[in-house]
Amino acid sequence: MENWRVFQGGSKLGLIDQERLKLEFELLAGINSPSRKEEPLANYVVSIFEALGAQCFFDRSFLHTQSRVGNLIVKVPGKEDLPPLFLGAHLDTVEDTSEIKIYEKDGVIAKEGPGVLGADDKSGIAVLIEIVRALKETDRPHPPLEIVFTTCEEIGLLGARYLDYGLLSARMGYVLDSEDPREVIVQAPEAIKFEVRVRGKAAHAGLEPEKGINAIKVAAEALSRLPSGRLDEETTLNYGVIQGGKATNIVPEEVVLEGEIRSHRLDKLEARWQEIQKVFSEVAEAYRTGDRPQVSFHQEEMFPGFSVPRDHPVLKLLEQAAQELGLELRYARREGGSDANIFNRQGITTVILGTGMRRVHSPEEFLVLEDLYLCAELLLNCLLKAAESGFLAAI
Ligand SMILES: [Zn+2]
Repeated sequence: MENWRVFQGGSKLGLIDQERLKLEFELLAGINSPSRKEEPLANYVVSIFEALGAQCFFDRSFLHTQSRVGNLIVKVPGKEDLPPLFLGAHLDTVEDTSEIKIYEKDGVIAKEGPGVLGADDKSGIAVLIEIVRALKETDRPHPPLEIVFTTCEEIGLLGARYLDYGLLSARMGYVLDSEDPREVIVQAPEAIKFEVRVRGKAAHAGLEPEKGINAIKVAAEALSRLPSGRLDEETTLNYGVIQGGKATNIVPEEVVLEGEIRSHRLDKLEARWQEIQKVFSEVAEAYRTGDRPQVSFHQEEMFPGFSVPRDHPVLKLLEQAAQELGLELRYARREGGSDANIFNRQGITTVILGTGMRRVHSPEEFLVLEDLYLCAELLLNCLLKAAESGFLAAI
């Protein structure tokens, strides 16, 4: 296992109950919550927060997500003259976890049985529960909290996409959905998926091939002129699916090609998409006189990108909280999409914190307990600092 034994010892703030946090994670891990079936987990989370005096309600996103439940919004009262802070985690796991058996060994929680552990993102939920419990036990001031537990994150960020943002007033915050609490995700790319459809002309391959236009050849020629893979340090392009042709004795009439482009710079992403369209169009036009292949293009957003500047209050606050714990933070970018991409576009400046989960989306997924505790310490200290320092008043 990686070098995770960096943060040793008990709680520095003395407010986090590590044993309680671990037990809560274990309880959450026992509630199956694959995408669209988050309801039992959501109801359990409601029962906890209601008992802690928070206000819990669901939005109507289930109308769009086809989950059995909406996103869960939990409002925790705080110091009234402070603007609220946003916190988030997702309820769904990437796979069914009903048959797993968890165990603890060498400071790590892992599991036996098929599928994932589901620390992605139940470790985040456990931290949020522990934070609110710890705040309840101290009389130190903190800002009001708006905590969002989304559904269907793993199947296209659907909960975040259809979240009722009118129910929220927080303008910045933290999502718990990454691995290492020492590494803060402050940037993620924009991504589109696209489809190129090449329409040639069918003909009998032996009797009259001259009358046909081979769509596979047209697509192949265009593709051979185009790059793929990592195009620069900010941009990737992949052709992922190609379909076409019906039989060996028919000149193929149609090819459909699907791919994706990701970039941390929108202008680069758009330039690549233009290049693809230009090359396919040129190949089609140069094909021959008379009948020409037809090419059509379609693209749609997979997720929007984001980049949070280092001097934003959300990061200054975190930096200050980390310093007090003797923790040195690194800032990183993630090459995929997660709920934070959507929150940022909706005007809630959000960075992603690590919870100790490792090897997510794989059968080897495990949770490093020291990192789980560290994440809770860091976030709790952030909330206490926010009340002390006037950081939030500045936004
Ligand atoms: Zn996740």
